Amino acid sequence: MQKETDDHEYFMRLALTEAKRAYDLGEVPIGAVVVAPDGQVIGRGHNMRESRGDPTAHAEMMAIQRAAAQRHHWRLHGCRLYVTIEPCMMCAGAIQLSRIAHVFYGAVNPKGGALGSSGNAYAFDRLNHYPVVSSGILTPLCGKIVQDFFREKRQRYRARCTDATCGEMSEWSKELASKASSP
Ligand SMILES: [Zn+2]
Repeated sequence: MQKETDDHEYFMRLALTEAKRAYDLGEVPIGAVVVAPDGQVIGRGHNMRESRGDPTAHAEMMAIQRAAAQRHHWRLHGCRLYVTIEPCMMCAGAIQLSRIAHVFYGAVNPKGGALGSSGNAYAFDRLNHYPVVSSGILTPLCGKIVQDFFREKRQRYRARCTDATCGEMSEWSKELASKASSP
């Protein structure tokens, strides 16, 4: 389906639909889409780390792999990537390597966001390509789904959760909430 190429909220909603798929699978709800210069969506993906048992199965990686397969080429010149949460180091790297022109993200990731929050992957000198970065697209919705996910998970596992993961998740979710609500 094609759409006006500058309707950023429309494409972020598609990424949110992907995030909801992850939510339903019990995965941290992050979604992404890759959009060709003509406005056609050529790759969709959501976080599948748990279901695949693969630390690299992030939403952005899934969407980029599918877009490259659809194009029969690793180079995604002129394409844009929309992702609900600020990319990590790995995904920021994959976005740069695939030559994606512009990345849009919704909410910041205070625990490892590599496009400004924890560091900036594109501050490296002498890269052969620098994607443009924009943020703030549907930020409250993109942050809320992650907060809801962790809230529900905490409620469900509160009784039996004794390891450090719960504390970590709680902290991450809280920070995300404070960043999402600040202007
Ligand atoms: Zn990632």
